Amino acid sequence: MKALVIAEHTDAARELSAGARTLADDVVLVTLGEAPAGVADKAVAVKVPEGAVADDAYVTVQGIYDAEAPAVVLAEPSRHVKSVLGRLAAAANASVITDVTAFTDAGATSLYFGGVGERVRKAAGDVVFYTVAPGTFEGLEATGTDVVEEAAWTAPARPLALLSSREREKSGGDLFKAEAVVAAGRGFAEEAELDLARALADKLGGGVACSRPLTEGVDWMPAGTYVGVSGLVLSPKVYVACGISGQMQHMVGCNRSGAVFAVNKDKNAPVFKQCDFGLVGDIKDVLPAVTAAL
Ligand SMILES: Cc1cc2nc3c(=O)[nH]c(=O)nc-3n(C[C@H](O)[C@H](O)[C@H](O)COP(=O)(O)OP(=O)(O)OC[C@H]3O[C@@H](n4cnc5c(N)ncnc54)[C@H](O)[C@@H]3O)c2cc1C
Repeated sequence: MKALVIAEHTDAARELSAGARTLADDVVLVTLGEAPAGVADKAVAVKVPEGAVADDAYVTVQGIYDAEAPAVVLAEPSRHVKSVLGRLAAAANASVITDVTAFTDAGATSLYFGGVGERVRKAAGDVVFYTVAPGTFEGLEATGTDVVEEAAWTAPARPLALLSSREREKSGGDLFKAEAVVAAGRGFAEEAELDLARALADKLGGGVACSRPLTEGVDWMPAGTYVGVSGLVLSPKVYVACGISGQMQHMVGCNRSGAVFAVNKDKNAPVFKQCDFGLVGDIKDVLPAVTAAL
C-alpha cells in the first residue's frame, strides 16, 4: 500500500512521513517548499513561483497524486495544505477525516463538537484523506531516500494573483517547537499589556500565543498564533494560560501540554478545572512577579 504525505513545513513532513510508514509500505512525500531528505521513499518539492500563491499548487500536486495513486493521504493541517487537500479529495470523490490525533485498528480518532468529545471514524472508498494534528506520530523516526526531486509548477486555469503582502508581528518563535508557551486571553485589557506575556515567555525561552478573540476580536496578535479547535493544537512542556477563561474551544488546543498553568482573577473560571497548576490573581500583578522570581 502506498501513502502520500503532503506538508508545508519540514518538521511536519518528517513526522507525517514517519507516521505514514506505520500505515503503508511505500511513502511518497510532497512538500510546498523545501522537502527534507531521508524521510520518504520518494520526495518531491513543489516550489511556488514568485507571484503565485501556495493554494494554487493543487494542479501540480494533482499530477503527482494521479501518478502515484496512493491508498492513503496524510496532510499537515496548515491553511495552504488544507486548501490543496480539499481540492484533491473532491476530485477523487473521496472522504476527508480532519484533525486526526491517533490511528488505531478501529479507525482514526479526532475531536468532536469543538473538542467536547472524541470520535473514531473509518472512511469508505479506495482512498482516504486525513489531516493529522502535530504530535500524533511524535517519537517515530522517518527513513528514506536522500534524493529530493523538484516538480515543474503547473498553474491552474484561473490562478490567484498575489496583489500585495506585508510582514506581521512574529510570535516569538515557532510555537510548534517551543517548549514553553505563554498564551494571552481577553484578560489583557489593552495591547500594551501583552508585554507582560512576552517578558514571561522570554524568561522561559518560549513563544507567545493567544486565545481567538485577541486575533479576530481586536487584532493584537497574528492570526497564526491563536490556540484551539480552529487554531493551533500545541503540546509544549509548559503552557501558561493567562487571562483565559478556559472555554473548551481553546483548551483542546493546549490540553496535551506537559503541564498547563493558569492565571485568572476569577476563582470560578473554568480554566481552573482543566489546569495542573492554577493561580487566582490579576495578570498585572502575577506575571511581573513570576517573571522576576524566575
Ligand atoms: C466554533 C467556534 C470555534 C472557536 N474556536 C476557538 C479557538 O480555536 N480558540 C479560542 O481561543 N477560542 C475559540 N472560540 C472562542 C471560545 O469559545 C471563547 O470565546 C474564547 O476562547 C474566549 O477567549 P478568552 O478566554 O481569552 O476570553 P474570555 O472568555 O472573555 O475570558 C477572559 C478571562 O480573563 C479573566 N480576566 C479578566 N481580567 C483579568 C486580569 N486582569 N487578570 C487575570 N484574569 C483576568 C476573566 O476572569 C476571564 O476568565 C471558538 C468559538 C466558536 C463558537
